Amino acid sequence: MRTWIITADEHAQSLVEAARNVGSEVVAVVCGEAHIGGVDSILRVACPENTPVEALAPLVAESVEAAPGDVVLVANRPAERVLAGAVAAKLNAPVFTGVLEIGTGKAKLSVYGGISVEEVSFTSAVIAILDGGAESEGKSPESAALSGQTYAASVTSVERQDVAQVNLSAAKRIVAAGRGFKDEGDLNLARALCEVLGAELACSRPLAEGTNWLARDRYVGVSGQVVSPDLYVAVGISGQVQHTAGMNDSALVVAINDDEKAPIFEVADYGIVGDLYSVLPALTAALS
Ligand SMILES: Cc1cc2nc3c(=O)[nH]c(=O)nc-3n(C[C@H](O)[C@H](O)[C@H](O)COP(=O)(O)OP(=O)(O)OC[C@H]3O[C@@H](n4cnc5c(N)ncnc54)[C@H](O)[C@@H]3O)c2cc1C
Repeated sequence: MRTWIITADEHAQSLVEAARNVGSEVVAVVCGEAHIGGVDSILRVACPENTPVEALAPLVAESVEAAPGDVVLVANRPAERVLAGAVAAKLNAPVFTGVLEIGTGKAKLSVYGGISVEEVSFTSAVIAILDGGAESEGKSPESAALSGQTYAASVTSVERQDVAQVNLSAAKRIVAAGRGFKDEGDLNLARALCEVLGAELACSRPLAEGTNWLARDRYVGVSGQVVSPDLYVAVGISGQVQHTAGMNDSALVVAINDDEKAPIFEVADYGIVGDLYSVLPALTAALS
């Protein structure tokens, strides 16, 4: 039996750890030059300049010779999800999302927005989509280069969004802002706390998809990013299940909310009932 990893990026440490938990030989299929450590072998698919990773799908699918019971772990990023689809089609295999745990022949999946956990067993090969996590660590084995059919597609132009890219799944500390903030400029209060804590700024969905104050890759929850930092500070966030499904695995949760009955306090280790407009400056000053 083998466990397969498909990635186009060195942010794949969570995949390597999940593969090690499965316990069989680990083969990584890597598109491009990304460093991947801690695996037994690497099959490398060259990604020529101006070629989108998605164009490598036929070659990636051909290279994954998964047998019944094998697990194929794929990073939850747009290009890699396309590769996952191609592999699933070739193997006629199911695709699992919301993977909490995966082992030999069994998996635990988060369903219904994180309010239930489904246990499944399988005997066929399966594709499991997981967050890539931090940069891959450890020694990388020699890689074997693959060649074969790819799609004829090329990148003709790139328009960069005027937002900083953020990898929340690798962040150790996060300050998340919610609708308790009344104005976009007020987010500077959260940014100041981020600065003293060395934290990334995140948010609830309305701040990314309603007001558009922050980029979409900064919202946490069932339809956003799933995070597990050492510290998660939720500020002016009510704690609806669609949000908490994305931060339940945080090691320590601090909630700041002016409503003592807000559900966020049910998942918080420490709660501050108060107005964020006075609590945040005081907290930032105390920590400075
Ligand atoms: C299919 C679906 C998927 C969804 N996916 C997601 C998702 O992935 N992520 C997500 O976040 N949401 C998601 N949502 C939306 C979710 O249901 C909630 O509406 C959203 O999380 C609420 O965001 P909020 O907590 O910032 O706002 P609110 O619920 O409006 O809460 C604001 C909180 O701020 C507090 N507050 C107000 N003023 C102050 C102040 N001055 N000081 C301190 N506290 C204050 C209030 O007491 C309140 O608790 C989804 C919804 C649906 C239907």
